[in-house]
Amino acid sequence: MQKYGGSSVADAEGVKRVAQRIVDAKRAGHDVVVVVSAMGDTTDELIDLAQQVSPMPPPRELDMLLTAGERISMALLAMAVGNLGHEARSFTGSQAGVITDSSHGKAKIIDVTPGRIQKALGEGAIAIVAGFQGVSQDTKDITTLGRGGSDTTAVALAAALRADCCEIYTDVDGVFTADPRIVPSAQRREHVSYEEMLEMAACGAKILHLRCVEYARRYDIPIHVRSSFSKLTGTWISNTPPTAPAAPTGESSTMEQAIIAGVAHDRSEAKITVVGVPDKIGEAARIFEALAGAGINLDMIVQNISAAATNLTDISFSLPRADGGTAMTALDRIKEEVGFASLLYDDQIGKVSLIGAGMRSHPGVTAKFFSALAAAGVNIQMISTSEIRISVVVDELQVDDAVRAAHAAFDLDSDQVEAVVYGGTGR
Ligand code: ASP
Ligand code: MG
Repeated sequence: MQKYGGSSVADAEGVKRVAQRIVDAKRAGHDVVVVVSAMGDTTDELIDLAQQVSPMPPPRELDMLLTAGERISMALLAMAVGNLGHEARSFTGSQAGVITDSSHGKAKIIDVTPGRIQKALGEGAIAIVAGFQGVSQDTKDITTLGRGGSDTTAVALAAALRADCCEIYTDVDGVFTADPRIVPSAQRREHVSYEEMLEMAACGAKILHLRCVEYARRYDIPIHVRSSFSKLTGTWISNTPPTAPAAPTGESSTMEQAIIAGVAHDRSEAKITVVGVPDKIGEAARIFEALAGAGINLDMIVQNISAAATNLTDISFSLPRADGGTAMTALDRIKEEVGFASLLYDDQIGKVSLIGAGMRSHPGVTAKFFSALAAAGVNIQMISTSEIRISVVVDELQVDDAVRAAHAAFDLDSDQVEAVVYGGTGR
């Protein structure tokens, strides 16, 4: 199973280069199933186009439009493979048996019935599947899985076809300790656990779709993230490092595991502060019920202790920027009922997260992280932690500085620059 991202098939040259890699895998004796994304920035361009004809395109039609991007690349790729002397057949998500629920723009896969793919493989053909899309079980309408969803298509198909692993080809050589576009001295990780990768994806690392990692963990499908522009080994994502020898003594296998797997950042969130909330039982419940009712996924939540004089408190939380307007409207509606003073909205924020399973057993990680931010002149607005993660919200303009400072503080900088960004606009 192989998946190629948009930057790997950005133009005709890219399509031909990828076709050659596919044929090489076929010649090496593998049954090859390929999932492909839309070419380059096609999906963004289609969204722009939709917005030009309608400020609020109906979700059903928007999905129909966006899935066209992957159809273009799958057909071109099948042609290019054919030109190299191997039969390739392209399939839409629906034809490949990707069955979803009916929530347009963020559909969840509920079943995969890849009969046509198996038949194509049985007849010696290479199957090429359009990523990011499926068909709704109830409405039979075409759906999309959310931005970056082709990764999830690939892992879901790999699970349904019982593939040994899923190779995800992208424009960098694997998973790095930070975005190489911000930290050129970032290092490639050889192995990352599902758990760490889940946190990294949830914290804005764009390398893999979050649901793809959830799926891979559930079905225990090892993922190999690597570049389609080089032959280098990339990063393995699985439960156990593939090469780890059995530990002879009580000591952990080879070297001590790194404390920090990486530094992730996210500029897609906004922050809302509900000012002057009466400190009474049930007020927080009412606020978050209103947000849940509006279908909003919250990220960090902070409540201060109330000032003794006023018995009022402030509650701040972060949420996807795209949901900012909806959340403000929902809260405004309950202003009288809850009796809070006002609402503040700030979308000039960014989140920086330090992730690593090793931090569980190392005291002082938080102190070191916060000192590094202080030394870089970065003010912390919100904090949240899990067992293997510390996240802070900072001013959007200071995200790069914060990422670099944390990366350096935990000795993640490499001496050689090995992080090559081969393509893509980072859009
Ligand atoms: N083309 C879609 C997107 O840009 C899906 C993907 O690339 O995974 O979000
Ligand atoms: Mg992607």
